[in-house]
Amino acid sequence: MYSVKEALTKATQQIKGISDIPNKEARILLASYLKKDQLWLITHDGEEIVEEGYFKLIERRFNNEPIEYITNSASFYGRDFYVDSNVLIPRPETEILVDEVISTCKGIKRPTIVEIGTGSGIISIVLALLIPDAIITAIDISKEALKVAQKNAEKYEVDDRIEFIHSDLCENYKKKNFDMLVSNPPYIANDESLHIGLSYEPSMALYGGKEGDEILKNIINIFIEKNVKNLACEMGYDQKDAITNYLKDFNLKANFYKDLARLDRGFVINK
Ligand code: GLN
Repeated sequence: MYSVKEALTKATQQIKGISDIPNKEARILLASYLKKDQLWLITHDGEEIVEEGYFKLIERRFNNEPIEYITNSASFYGRDFYVDSNVLIPRPETEILVDEVISTCKGIKRPTIVEIGTGSGIISIVLALLIPDAIITAIDISKEALKVAQKNAEKYEVDDRIEFIHSDLCENYKKKNFDMLVSNPPYIANDESLHIGLSYEPSMALYGGKEGDEILKNIINIFIEKNVKNLACEMGYDQKDAITNYLKDFNLKANFYKDLARLDRGFVINK
């Protein structure tokens, strides 16, 4: 048996080489393992625990598995969501995409919003919470991802406000003329080598094709074919020129936005 304090000291040592904040991660994993909160750990550092299961979690983290998959929890827009390896872990920059959709939908009564590639459902769920009269459809190619999204929608009691559809892009969704199409699609080029932590995430949610922007271009095609009024997408930091050029053929112009690192990260088109 280890005390809480001893377990934390040993665990911190073990993940020092792979984490910038080993003590914090050791604490997050211990709280998750014991189903307690951070304050409990501080006030019970002499308490004895059965440490075996905890060090199994520490070993997973040592092997670079993202902490969000180990705890089955990730934070987005100030809320907590269930995640597992069937879905991408929410990135903070995607909050900017949500803000762009919200500001575009301001002034539209009962806006109809369609999300392509909902993953864990974070974008559609936050939109449902923040735009109470929105009518939302969330699409994903992965049945497993849709189960995660459904679970999160139930947690936030917006499952009756979001229609989930299993489909590759809009193949199984025939409606047109809606107000807003939004997506954070896979946009990384197939041959780009990524940090080892990303190897735990679904490659289906990361890789967009040979150039990386293929799915983004497909989404632009859908936006045009379906006569949608507005489009908001996240994209790779180096895809602004490719998207701008692609839009020229359709006489369309995008407003690009940057992420917190001041890198180009997405665009909005208003028709
Ligand atoms: N922003 C993610 C990353 O850089 C990629 C997400 C995506 O492809 N949509 O890891």
